[in-house]
Amino acid sequence: MPTHRFPPLADPNRLPRRVVVLAPHPDDEVLGCGGMIAFHALRGDVPVVVFLSDGAAGDPTGNARDLTKLRRDEARAALAEFGNCKIEHFDFPDGELDGAHELPGRILGILERTAAEIVYMPSPLECHADHMAAARAATVAAAAIPGLRTMLYGVNTAVPANELYDISQFRAKKDAALRHYKSQIAFKDLVKISRAIDAARTVNIPDSAGVADCEGFVALSSEDLRDHAARFRGLEELLFPPNGSGESGA
Ligand SMILES: [Zn+2]
Repeated sequence: MPTHRFPPLADPNRLPRRVVVLAPHPDDEVLGCGGMIAFHALRGDVPVVVFLSDGAAGDPTGNARDLTKLRRDEARAALAEFGNCKIEHFDFPDGELDGAHELPGRILGILERTAAEIVYMPSPLECHADHMAAARAATVAAAAIPGLRTMLYGVNTAVPANELYDISQFRAKKDAALRHYKSQIAFKDLVKISRAIDAARTVNIPDSAGVADCEGFVALSSEDLRDHAARFRGLEELLFPPNGSGESGA
């Protein structure tokens, strides 16, 4: 009989303190791991949040003027809700991270410069091309640092989390941070969506635990990133076992 595989509610106090957050665009950091940024900031960790693209493509109507500056201002105001964070902008063109060949090197540079112990980064299961490119570049960089803890987060799609974190106490801060992204909320009610996603993450936690909001991550040591990727190949073998009869039909 199969055993349950519910991801455990993890203790954030066990997480290391030198924190880097990689966000393809301004707002991804809040949607993906804003509660944990708030946790680290409250603990005095001073997380370093790195925006990889310039965010210039964040207006489907094409009418916005100087969207890059606007989204920078929004990001500064959003992260100020969480407390003391450092912000870096790589300013690669929005929508073109896939062609940014320097991206893995730039990410590795910041991980080394900050002596990062933990990095929050997009999951490779994301759908947006920039998010997928960010996941790939971050994986290349993170894999070069032994023992680095990687926390894969989802924005476009939920990750198959192996760790959940109770962010209920940071709900108001996360909502307030999202509300600063007015240029994006104009097209999508990010607060409503974020609240729904974080509430849905509590599906396997008894109501009696009093956990209203969770963020979920694929938490791995950098040495395990390759094995994690290979698990999806393992899934294919589990569901479609190779025919042992030798009759391939080919
Ligand atoms: Zn994004």
